[in-house]
Amino acid sequence: MRRYRSGKIVSTIGPASCSPENLERLFLNGVDVFRLNFSHGSHEGHAQVYDAIRAIGKKHHCYPTILADMQGPKLRVGTFENDKIILESGDIFRFDLDPTPGNTQRVNLPHPEILEALQVGTTLLLDDGKLRFEVLSCRPDYAEVKVLVGGPLSNRKGVNVPHVMLPIPALTEKDRKDLDFALKLGVDWVALSFVQSVKDVEQAKQIINGRAGVVSKLEKPLAIKALEPIVEISDAIMVARGDLGVEMDPEEVPSIQRRIINTCHRMGRPVIVATQMLESMITAPSPTRAEVSDVATAVYSGADATMLSAESASGQYPFEAVSMMSRVIKKTESDPYCVRRLENDTQLPHKTVIDAICAAAKDAAEFSSASAIVLFTDSFETVVRCSRMRPTCPIVLITESEVLARKAGLCNGVHSICNKKEFSVDAMCKTAKVLTAEHQFANVGDNIAVLNDISERSVTICKL
Ligand code: PGA
Ligand code: MN
Repeated sequence: MRRYRSGKIVSTIGPASCSPENLERLFLNGVDVFRLNFSHGSHEGHAQVYDAIRAIGKKHHCYPTILADMQGPKLRVGTFENDKIILESGDIFRFDLDPTPGNTQRVNLPHPEILEALQVGTTLLLDDGKLRFEVLSCRPDYAEVKVLVGGPLSNRKGVNVPHVMLPIPALTEKDRKDLDFALKLGVDWVALSFVQSVKDVEQAKQIINGRAGVVSKLEKPLAIKALEPIVEISDAIMVARGDLGVEMDPEEVPSIQRRIINTCHRMGRPVIVATQMLESMITAPSPTRAEVSDVATAVYSGADATMLSAESASGQYPFEAVSMMSRVIKKTESDPYCVRRLENDTQLPHKTVIDAICAAAKDAAEFSSASAIVLFTDSFETVVRCSRMRPTCPIVLITESEVLARKAGLCNGVHSICNKKEFSVDAMCKTAKVLTAEHQFANVGDNIAVLNDISERSVTICKL
C-alpha cells in the first residue's frame, strides 16, 4: 500500500493506541514508524504490540518500522494514589525515596544520587518544565520544595534539574534489560535518550552490535556542543525538543533544530523532529494553526520524519492526529518552493562512488520525468545516501532483506518492497516494471530510473 508522501510519520504507542485494531487503524491512517516507549509499559505489553504490528505488516504486505525508545537516565517521579494531583503555586511539597504512591503532600523520586546532588535554592522542573519547584531543604532521603509554578502532575512525569551535573550513567540498569528485550523481539531501531557524548553512543553500539540501528536523541546542551561527531557515529538522530526545550531556553530550540537537520542532511543521517508537534490534539480533534505550521516547517527544512508522542499514545484523537500530520506533510511537499529549498540545501560532504550513483539516479529520474527511482541494494548506507539526495519522485527500494525493508521505513522518500534478489540489469528492469506497476508507483508509458547497487553500479532508464 503506497503512501503519497515522502516525509515519514513516527507514532508513539500507548494506552490510546495499543490494541491490534487501533494499531491497524494508525497504520492505515499513515503511521510509518511505531515507537515503543520503554519509559512506560511492561515487557509483556511491548511484546504484544510488537507482534500485532508485525501481523499488520504481513496482512498488508508492508514493512512497518518499529523503534524501541530507551528511557535513559531520565528522572521521573513515581505514581500517585489517584494517578494525578493538582499543585498550586506556594504549596510545600516533598520528593522522597518512599516507593508507595504519592498524594498532594509528597511523591517518590527514586534517585538517591539526585537527592544528594540537590542544594537549597536548586530549581526542579517537572513535566517538560510545566511545573517549577525550588528546593527549600534537603536530606539524604527527601527534599522539601516550594511550588513556584503549579499545575496538574500525574504518574511518572519527567524531572529535569538544569545546571546541575548529575552522576548517572548513559545506559541505566533498566535500559540494559529493556535493550536486551527489545533486541530479542527484533526491533528495527533503538533510540538512546539523553546522549551526552560520542562515548555514550559507542557504548550502546557495542552492545547492539548491528542488530538494530541507533537513533541518538539530542536533548542535552552537552550533545549540541558535540553535534557533528555524535551525528557521524549515530545511524539516525531525533531532535528531542521536549527535554531540549527544558534544559535550554525555549527560544534556542528552533535554530538548534535547523542546525541539527542541516547537519544530518549533509552527513546523510535520517532525522526525526519530535515532541509537541500536534500537542493540542491530545484533547481536541483539530490542531492549532501554530502546530500545523510547526509540522510544515520540519518538512520544509528537510526532516525525514515527524513524531507524535502523547497525541497518539494517550490522547483522545490518535487517528485524527495521524491523518492531520499526513495531510500537512503531503500539502507542504506539494509546494514547489519546498522542492527548491531542499535542492539548494543538498551539499555533498563526501565524494564517494555511492554518492555519485545516487546523484546520477536523481538526475536521470528528474531529466526523464521518471515516476520512481527503483533501488536494488543490500545496503542501508546506499538507501540513506539515495534518500538524502531528496529526489522529487519516490525511491522504491527492492530488497530480499525484510530487515533492510523495515529499517528503511524511517528514511524520507523510501518505499520498501521485498522481492528475490536480481543480479542482471535486465532482470532488475523487468522486476522493477512489474513491481512499480503493481504497487502503483508507475503506469504504462512512464519512465523509471533503475539503480543497480548489486552486481555493479549503474543507472538505467526504462519505460513501462
Ligand atoms: P521523550 O523524548 O518523549 O522520551 O522525553 C522526546 C523529547 O524529549 O522530546
Ligand atoms: Mn526526552
